[in-house]
Amino acid sequence: MAIDLEDARKRMVVEQLEKRGIRDARVLEVMGAVARHRFLPAELHDHAYDDGPLPIGDSQTISQPYMVALMSEVAELEGHEKVLEVGTGSGYQTAVLSHLAREVHSVESIEHLHDRARVILTSIGIRNVVLHYGDGSEGLPEHAPYEVIMVTAAMPGIPMPLLHQLTPKGRLVAPIGEDELQTLVRISRRTGQWNEEYFGECRFVKMIGKHGFKE
Ligand code: SAM
Repeated sequence: MAIDLEDARKRMVVEQLEKRGIRDARVLEVMGAVARHRFLPAELHDHAYDDGPLPIGDSQTISQPYMVALMSEVAELEGHEKVLEVGTGSGYQTAVLSHLAREVHSVESIEHLHDRARVILTSIGIRNVVLHYGDGSEGLPEHAPYEVIMVTAAMPGIPMPLLHQLTPKGRLVAPIGEDELQTLVRISRRTGQWNEEYFGECRFVKMIGKHGFKE
C-alpha cells in the first residue's frame, strides 16, 4: 500500500528538521508545504520524505531535505530578495527558495535536467522563478546583483566571480572543499572584508565548469 505522503512530509519536518535544530519558522513552513515527491519519478514517491538525497537521473541527485532547509536558513531570507541558485537539479531547492524570496534565477548545466525542472515548476504553479541553461560557476552577471547566491554543487574554492555578483550586504552559501567532502560556508562582507562562517560538513555532487572542478 502507498504511504500517506502528506503525513510523511509532516513527520519529516519534525523528525529531520526541528529535532536537528532548524528554527526559522518560514523555512519550516515552506518545507512542510512543498511536495518533494513532485520532483521525483513515481517509483521513488514512497521515499520522497526519507532522510537523504535521491537519484534524479544523469548521475545527479535531489538534495537531502535537511540540507535544503539548512541552506535556506543560513541564507536568512526575508521575502524581498533576488536570489541566484547555481545547480537547479530537480528544482526542489528552487521551489523552496521561490516561497522565501521575491525572485529566483536558477542555472543548470545539464539541458535535460533544466527542461525537466521547468516542466515540474510550471506544473506546480511557481511563477517567480527564471530557469537558465549553462555554466553557473561564472554566475549570471546579466541579472546581478543578488542578495543571496546559493550554490548546490561542490566548489573547489571560493568562487570570486560569484562574490562580485552580490549586493553590498549580500551573502553566498555554498559547499566548498574536496570532491568527496565539503564544508557548508556562508560568505558575506563585513566592514569591507569578506567574512566566512561555517555550518558543518556536507557531501554534494561536483560542480563542473570554468570555476568548478574539471571533468
Ligand atoms: N538543489 C538541487 C535539488 O534540490 O534537486 C540539487 C542540485 S544537485 C546536488 C547539483 C546540480 O548542479 C546538478 O543538477 C548538476 O548538474 C548541477 N551543476 C553542476 N555543475 C554545474 C554548473 N557549472 N552550472 C550549473 N549547474 C551545475
